[in-house]
Amino acid sequence: MSILSVENLCKNYGQVQALKGVSFSVPRGTVFGILGPNGSGKTTLLGIIMDILKPTSGSYNLFDATPDETYRRKIGTFLETPNFYHYLSAQKNLEIAAALKERGAQDIPRVLDLVNLTQRKDSRFSTYSLGMKQRLAIASCLLGDPEVLILDEPTNGLDPVGIAEIRQLIKQLHQQGKTIIMASHLLDEVEKVCTHVAILKKGNLVAAGDVNEILANEDIVEIGATDMKQLAAIVTSMQGHSNIKNQDKIIQLFYPIGTADVESINKHCFNSGVVLNHLQLKKKSLEAKFFELTN
Ligand code: ATP
Repeated sequence: MSILSVENLCKNYGQVQALKGVSFSVPRGTVFGILGPNGSGKTTLLGIIMDILKPTSGSYNLFDATPDETYRRKIGTFLETPNFYHYLSAQKNLEIAAALKERGAQDIPRVLDLVNLTQRKDSRFSTYSLGMKQRLAIASCLLGDPEVLILDEPTNGLDPVGIAEIRQLIKQLHQQGKTIIMASHLLDEVEKVCTHVAILKKGNLVAAGDVNEILANEDIVEIGATDMKQLAAIVTSMQGHSNIKNQDKIIQLFYPIGTADVESINKHCFNSGVVLNHLQLKKKSLEAKFFELTN
């Protein structure tokens, strides 16, 4: 099941084309990073999904259905640092947030515990560090135990300790089964936290899929043949690869970056009596991806 699927989404602000026909889908149970430099369209995309902005054209589904409020209520969002009352405690601020959202009032002790703020729950918000403020914002999204969280640049402006805490929290929520969709401009962050990624550049989708495939710092060669059993048997005798993954209709061979030689793979298979019907060098290095993004 896909939590979100985006189909040919376009958004223009006057002359500015913020999204130019973006399509991808977010599988359930993933940490899905929307990665791109400033101005690439990440916030616009999240704003459309949460019905704050209307797309110029294109469409999207939530939970494999036409989006409406019932589905959006299953999503906790943190699109910008929320306006908590500075002179009130975390506890009081969450009580107000729960009342506004009309959900999660009984959930406050649980979410405070999850974000590790129980001990400071009675301190005024104004005494919190930026990291604690961000964690309180995530606690607020978690009220009512939504299945999905949407976070826009959740570590923005934090020091290394604050960044590590938020990343740890995201991983923990993922382990509990939540699907998390997060925008980030940091390649390193997406690599460390996300299982899947969609890369945006100036409103275009550059790539989307499994992080290990999209951002792997190695070459991946995909091969296929009519007789997959025979192919699987002969690849074991090939040299140079660091890993092999057998999938349904293809085999993936992993090589240290820059060392895959598709010609000799093809020759080896042919000489061993297997004619390939699929041969593709899929991977680019992390650096190459980064260059593509930032160039
Ligand atoms: P950032 O990380 O800087 O927020 P982003 O990837 O989230 O960037 P968006 O904020 O979605 O990108 O912006 C995409 C493009 O749309 C940018 O060129 C931006 O200047 C433009 N844009 C965004 N909002 C508006 C608006 N309300 N009016 C005009 N242009 C806008």
